[in-house]
Amino acid sequence: MRIHLSASLFLIALACCVLPAPAWAVWRERTEAIMGTRIYVEVWAADAAKGDEAIAAVMADMTRIDELMSHYKPESQLSQINARAAQEPVKVDKELFDLIKRSLYFSKITDGAFDITYASVGHLYNYPEHIRPTEAQIQAALPAVDYRNLLLDEVHHTVRFEHQGMRIDLGGIGKGYAVDHGIAILQAHAIQHAVVTAGGDSRIIGDHMGRPWVVAIRNPDDKNKVVTKIPLSDSAMSTSGDYERYFDENGVRYHHIIDPHTGHSASKVRSATILGPTATETDGMSKTAFVLGPEKALEIINRLPQYDAVFVCPDGRVLYSNGLAPPQAAAAQSKAKATAESPHAPP
Ligand code: ADP
Ligand code: MG
Repeated sequence: MRIHLSASLFLIALACCVLPAPAWAVWRERTEAIMGTRIYVEVWAADAAKGDEAIAAVMADMTRIDELMSHYKPESQLSQINARAAQEPVKVDKELFDLIKRSLYFSKITDGAFDITYASVGHLYNYPEHIRPTEAQIQAALPAVDYRNLLLDEVHHTVRFEHQGMRIDLGGIGKGYAVDHGIAILQAHAIQHAVVTAGGDSRIIGDHMGRPWVVAIRNPDDKNKVVTKIPLSDSAMSTSGDYERYFDENGVRYHHIIDPHTGHSASKVRSATILGPTATETDGMSKTAFVLGPEKALEIINRLPQYDAVFVCPDGRVLYSNGLAPPQAAAAQSKAKATAESPHAPP
């Protein structure tokens, strides 16, 4: 026994002399400000250098996507579309073309609740400066809000507006897309456990120390208070809230999620959170859910097993989709729905 012990100690000592320094798996994390928001990446990597390299690649990619798709940067391809597409077809990179195409798909399946042409009226709001359009300005701009007038040429990868005054912005889906792209980059770097967050959009691969990651949904009126916590692994989550960019005037909150049918800030909920397989989907769907409100949105989401939702309502109630609700709450929710649908349903 004693001999064995000293033999193994000798082998360890020998290994330390002969082998290169041992590599230790570690958690690495970094936060940066890109795309006008907070980007956070945390990875479990074979060693610190490999982790940092993978994180740096994600950050560089976020900057690249921002330069391509930002509507704030006049030189971006997206700004070129806004400047010229009402006059002529504008050719863009396939990546941007495909994301616009994806956005149109979301518009079709949501009957226009998600619509990147919302920007035709959305650009009239300036939240930090407390500027909002008059009703007359909204009515004048609204006819330009219609995804059906955004024409895509699949062969030439061009974008054309069929309505003067039309504008688009990808603020409602671009961060989710960038998160998914970031995850793909991490996977190409052999990372298996990570989280990538861009503003309200996150995606998680693997778990955290053998347990699910826990994500919190905040109280809309107090960022330090948590409404609920959700365990997550291998999925994405997006929250849209009326507390991100807004100003209050005469008791009305003007904020950045716009109902494309009215040109006004949507007001059926305070926040809408969607869980699903990819952040591009959850990002697009969180605006949709916010605009449609909990009743309509839950009806749709409860039919789609790959998605879940949490709503914080103006009266403080928290509503969950069936996949998340504790059994009693789910039963009560579906009973309330049945009663509402059928006036003859038993109490
Ligand atoms: P974050 O930017 O923090 O991810 P959201 O995911 O809630 O926040 O996205 C809000 C953004 O979505 C707005 O700033 C705007 O650019 C865009 N947007 C607002 N309303 C709509 C809409 N009805 N359809 C598509 N995009 C929208
Ligand atoms: Mg988002």
